[in-house]
Amino acid sequence: MYFDPKQIHPDSGLLIGGQRVRGAASQYPVASPSDPAVVREVSWASEDDVDHAVTSAREALARSGWSTTAPRERARVLRRWADLIDENAHEIACLEALVSARVHGEVTTRDVKVASEVLRFFGEFADKLEGVVTATPEDSLSLTLNEPYGVVGAISPWNFPIILSSWKWAPALAAGNAVVMKPSEFTPFAVTRLAELAAQAGLPEGLLNIVHGDGAVGAALVRHPDVACVTFTGSSATGARIMADAALHGLKPVSLELGGKGAQLVFADAPDLDQLAATVARGITYNSGQACFAGSRLVIEESIAESFIERVRQAMSGLRPGPTWDEGTTLPPVINRKQLDRMSRLVGGGVDAGARLLLGGKQMDGPHGACFFEPTIIQGVPRDNAAFQEEIFGPVLLVDTFREADEGIALANHPHYGLTASVHTLDIRKALHAARRLESGTVWINDWGRRSDMTAPFGGYKRSGIGKDMGAAGYQKYLKSKAVWIQS
Ligand code: NAD
Repeated sequence: MYFDPKQIHPDSGLLIGGQRVRGAASQYPVASPSDPAVVREVSWASEDDVDHAVTSAREALARSGWSTTAPRERARVLRRWADLIDENAHEIACLEALVSARVHGEVTTRDVKVASEVLRFFGEFADKLEGVVTATPEDSLSLTLNEPYGVVGAISPWNFPIILSSWKWAPALAAGNAVVMKPSEFTPFAVTRLAELAAQAGLPEGLLNIVHGDGAVGAALVRHPDVACVTFTGSSATGARIMADAALHGLKPVSLELGGKGAQLVFADAPDLDQLAATVARGITYNSGQACFAGSRLVIEESIAESFIERVRQAMSGLRPGPTWDEGTTLPPVINRKQLDRMSRLVGGGVDAGARLLLGGKQMDGPHGACFFEPTIIQGVPRDNAAFQEEIFGPVLLVDTFREADEGIALANHPHYGLTASVHTLDIRKALHAARRLESGTVWINDWGRRSDMTAPFGGYKRSGIGKDMGAAGYQKYLKSKAVWIQS
């Protein structure tokens, strides 16, 4: 066992102005998905608390001069913060694993490292991104300067809490902004602890504040008149509401990282089919399928379909459900019963509409009464069925077959989502042909899965998002440009 959940008692407070404070709304229970008997409390913010957090951020910006601090000094603070995160990896992983679906071992080896490294990565941008002198006639000079927005409102989901919160605050702070973050109400603790370490590293108090609560708290943050820019990761439906709110309350810029329904497009000449079957299985069972970049649809050339599906079926069968604090867990729990019931409903609806169930399909009772969903494969879900149209967000793989390459590409393109897709073939021309035609913000060739590499922009086409996290684009979105003209 990585840790004993009974020993973990997180602070329930908000983080405002460098202090833990109790929200004026009630204390709310947060139940562990690994063991519903493990319940901790978190303090939810009222609208006044949100106002307090935003005001504190605005005042911290003015008081500290963070936006005009030498960029290299900002980077130094972020590096110190990153080191503190690494030093406290075990504590952070316990807080994360206590109430999320993230397994402790993975949090220490991956999530914590991403959270620290993303601070170093974007810290380096602070004094590397330059302004521009535009090509004007000789009688004038025009300089394009980059300036931070001010207070950024950031909202994150429950599936990779510390990674996705860090993706927001690292570039926003490096660029000279302040941030008020609202993590998911289901996974508030590790994110708040990470933010607390920032002040210890020298980030001016109040520059990064955390408010807790549900969608109403998030909406109050988006609508706040002093929030100048909004950055969100979560479902497409919530993203749409946030975009509407941002438009109606100050016409502020929003960036949205939303849902996915990624395809694994497998041609008959794909390399190493055993290895690929393991990759496809991992692509839909990683984090129990609770990943925006999950490869949730296998689109496979008919000639190899039967034997390949059998290999995937075997690779998906040997997983071990268990709590996030057990070392042997390879299938973590579903975040809550509502999500579990939704999975059952969507899979059941697909089968009722004529799809063939090839594996799983049911809820599982795990240890301690936690909820799990069986690794599931269903073939031939009609395109107008909800199981095809919607993101299932569980370990459920949909299968379709094709004969011609362009038929496969057409099947791989989803009518609404376009976050990630993979194409598997040894023929580089076919791979590039598919990569160009796949309507997706990320395309992997002979691969699946987000790497720790942060250099490339990540974000969706269609209802999978607007704007990018990571890469240069993930930094520049926290800056506005100003043209300064000089008459010579
Ligand atoms: P969600 O949309 O239900 O909630 C996300 C966050 O938004 C939470 O903090 C929630 O409290 C808040 N929220 C809810 N309603 C709001 C409102 N009206 N105004 C402001 N904030 C509001 O999503 P979730 O269930 O927490 O996360 C799962 C979803 O996130 C999936 O759709 C997944 O694909 C998506 N996701 C996308 C990416 C990406 O990078 N594209 C990464 C991870 C997760």
